[in-house]
This record gives sequence, structure tokens and C-alpha cells, in this order.
Amino acid sequence: MTPEQFRRHGHEVVDWIADYWARIGSLPVRSPVAPGDVRAALPSAPPEDGEPFEAVLADLDRVVVPGLTHWQHPGFLGYFPANTSGPSVLGDLVSAGLGVQGMSWVTSPAATELEQHVLDWFAGLLGLPETFLSTGPGGGVVQDSSSGANLVALLAALHRAGGGETVRSGVRPDEYTVYVSAETHSSMEKAVRIAGLGSDAVRIVEVDGDLAMRPQSLRARLERDVARGYRPVLVCATVGTTSTTAVDPLAELGPICRDAGVWLHVDAAYAGVSAVVPELRGLQAGVEWADSYTTDAHKWLLTGFDATLFWVADRAALTGALAILPEYLRNAATDAGAVVDYRDWQIELGRRFRALKLWFVLRWYGAEGLRAHIRSGVALAQELAGWADADDRFDVVTPHPLSLVCLGPRWPEGVDADVATMTLLERLNDGGEVFLTHTTVRGQVVLRVAIGAPTTTRAHVERAWALLCEGHDWLAADFAESAAE
Ligand code: PLP
Repeated sequence: MTPEQFRRHGHEVVDWIADYWARIGSLPVRSPVAPGDVRAALPSAPPEDGEPFEAVLADLDRVVVPGLTHWQHPGFLGYFPANTSGPSVLGDLVSAGLGVQGMSWVTSPAATELEQHVLDWFAGLLGLPETFLSTGPGGGVVQDSSSGANLVALLAALHRAGGGETVRSGVRPDEYTVYVSAETHSSMEKAVRIAGLGSDAVRIVEVDGDLAMRPQSLRARLERDVARGYRPVLVCATVGTTSTTAVDPLAELGPICRDAGVWLHVDAAYAGVSAVVPELRGLQAGVEWADSYTTDAHKWLLTGFDATLFWVADRAALTGALAILPEYLRNAATDAGAVVDYRDWQIELGRRFRALKLWFVLRWYGAEGLRAHIRSGVALAQELAGWADADDRFDVVTPHPLSLVCLGPRWPEGVDADVATMTLLERLNDGGEVFLTHTTVRGQVVLRVAIGAPTTTRAHVERAWALLCEGHDWLAADFAESAAE
């Protein structure tokens, strides 16, 4: 493809994306295809000769779009949001066009320095401690995901706990222990397995009625394990759990971790970015106790996947765990210790120039634009919770400090509540206007309404509420009819 051909087809692709965004609200949110449908629409062999670009674009419409669940749809209220935006896409496009590798400072100095700078900006915007700044002992880096961030946090913690020994002799699987709650994201247990500790190393600390980790239970667990000869390595506290956005109390957990010499990792994958709004920062009071912290700009901060913002308070622990310098990567800047080489902060060697899209997003929206986006999601969720609170068909089952509301539908006596709730969910999702997901709270199936797609307005949330009420009435009438028969 020559630069001129690229220019022409590039414009076509940008037009295609803009048209997709313009019509997305008219598409069914959840893909209606059955397993195998997408592959059945594809030829069995790849093309022997190149095809016209128009044919590729036509297949986007014919094969790909029907097989998509539209995460940017205004009615997408499932899981957590996975925002993207114009400036993010354009930043990614420039990154792809530049095609540079930012594995070491020397391989493209701008890739490293822009990333350091943007992460320092974000640390300030989120009110994170100064130790996380690149000008201090710590620093920030873009990771591919919070799952990846949880893994590298654990590797750094193991390195610190082992006094460097882990790098030479590996982990001590029967000795090291890691502390989570039953609400912690599964990626932390996956990290424990990948690190070679095995799931038995995971200690599940009790939660309180709001599903937040109990500090006293953590303290008791740590003391008991130490008395039995275990070496506690890391506590993972979550700000905004995946299931219900419960918040573990950092200000109380922090001193306990410090007393025990345990690494405190804060997983704020979804909720952390909300701290751009000063009035929401109280949720993570005590964050200054954290040894590491992760939040995903690719969930709720107008930036496309992948853009995990990860900070450590002591970068030496992280690079101590991960740095290896083979001869073919040696260079004067690295040898002089004058630069940061981000390959030593992550699992992979190669790395894309992901800071560009974050920079584009920040410059286009400004801090105020980001705050407005978060505030709007939170305000809509609070309104929805208010409607549900005032309605005897639904219970708001957990605290809802941010943009997720968990609703427990009430059903007549004798009805299997979990089956009824799942039936309501399927009915709503089959309708195509909205898409919700579920979780269990205290053993009961509940509906999660996660607001935060950039296009979702009050009208969409009102419509989702109307559909929930209609669906509930329809099912309740159906149950009453069956009971009467
Ligand atoms: N941690 C928490 C608290 C999450 O909610 C999630 C995803 O929802 C993750 C980690 C995993 O995020 P990622 O997809 O960035 O790995």
C-alpha cells in the first residue's frame, strides 16, 4: 500500500468508524449470532492474491458488525464500561502509523519520556501520593491490563520479600502467602498461580456487610500465618470491586500492612479514575499507604483498550524483579543509569506507544472534560438508585458510590428468585435496547447496571429503568397466572 493509497483508504476507514458511531444506537446491543455463525460466513482459505480494500470494508459490515456486542452503545450497561473516544482512536492510529518500539529509552526516547510525563500528570490528577511520581523513588507506567499490573505488583512484592533471593532461587511456594477478599478480582489469584505460588497461597480475608475487607480480620490472619511460619508477601485491597464496587478501607489496611512488612497493592481497575473528581477522592483515602496502584483508563476514562495506569512507590523493587540486560540491548544511556527502560517494568519486551492516546485524550478533553464524564456517570447512577429505592419492585442491594447500581428484583412468595431474575435479564438483553449483566450478592442473583459509556444520557437510563419495570410486571403477572392454574 503506497502512502497515497493509505491516505485514500484511511479516510474511508475513518468515515466508516464515524458512521458506525453515528448509527450505533440503532443496532441491537448484544450480538444475536449463534456460536459458529461468524466463522461460517468466512471463506475456508485465505486469499491467494490481494483484494480491493472495498471488499474488506464490505465484510466488516457483512460479517463483523453482526457478530459484535456494541460496547460503545448508549444502552450498554453490562460488566464495566470499556470507553473509547475520537482522540483515543486517533492517538492509537498515530501510534500504529509510527510503528515504534518503546522497549528501551534509546529505542525511541519520546515514547518513554511522554509516558513518564503523562503518568506524572495522571498521578496529580488522581491525587495520588508524591512517591508515585517519576521524580521520586517510584514512577508510573502503562500496562496492558490491570490483570498484568496485578501480576507485576506481586512479582515486585516477592522480590522485596525475598531480599532479592527470588530472582536467583525462585519463589518459596510453601512459605509465601497473599491476602485478598472473596470480592477481589480473579486476576489476583491468576497472578499467584503464574508466579508459581499456587492457589493454596491465597488467604481469603472476611468482608463486612458492605462487602469491604475487614481490617481486624486481615490483622488476625497475618498474625496467625506469621505464627505458623508463613511469610505474608502482598495484600490486595480493592477500590471498587468488580461485582459491586465495594471499597476496601485503605486508611485502616495500610498501617496493618506496614506493621507486618507486607506489600499493599491497590487494585482500583474500574474506580480509580473517578479520583479525577476531587469530591470522589474520599473513597480511596489512605492511598498513600500503597506500594503499588492500578487503574484502567480503558474502562471509564474515554480511552480505548489497552491503557492501564500503574504506579509503584519504589521502582527499584519492580525493576529488581524484572530487569535483565542482555548484550544486544546494551546502550550508553542504560549503562549510565540515566534513563528509564520500560521493558524492565513489564512482562513483555516490546511495547507500543500507548501514551500517545492518553496524551491525545487529556489534551482534547482537558481535566475538566474528564471530570464532567465521570460526574455524569455517577449522577445518572444515583438517579437510577433513587428511582429503585422508591419502588417496591426492586431493592438496591449494595452501596453505590460510583456509576454501578446493583438491583435485586423482588418476586412473589414461592417464586425461585434467582431463576426469575435471570429470566428478566435474558428478556431485557434479548430486546436489544439495553445490555445488563448479573452477579451474586450474599448468595442471591442480582442485576448490575453499570453506567459510563460516553454516549449514555439520562434518556437511556430512563429507558433502561422503564424496561426493567415493564419486564418485572410482565414476569410477575406470568407467575401469578401460573400459580392460579
Ligand atoms: N481488577 C478489577 C477490580 C476489575 O474490576 C477488573 C476488570 O473488571 C480487573 C482487575 C481486570 O481488568 P483488566 O481487564 O484490565 O485486566
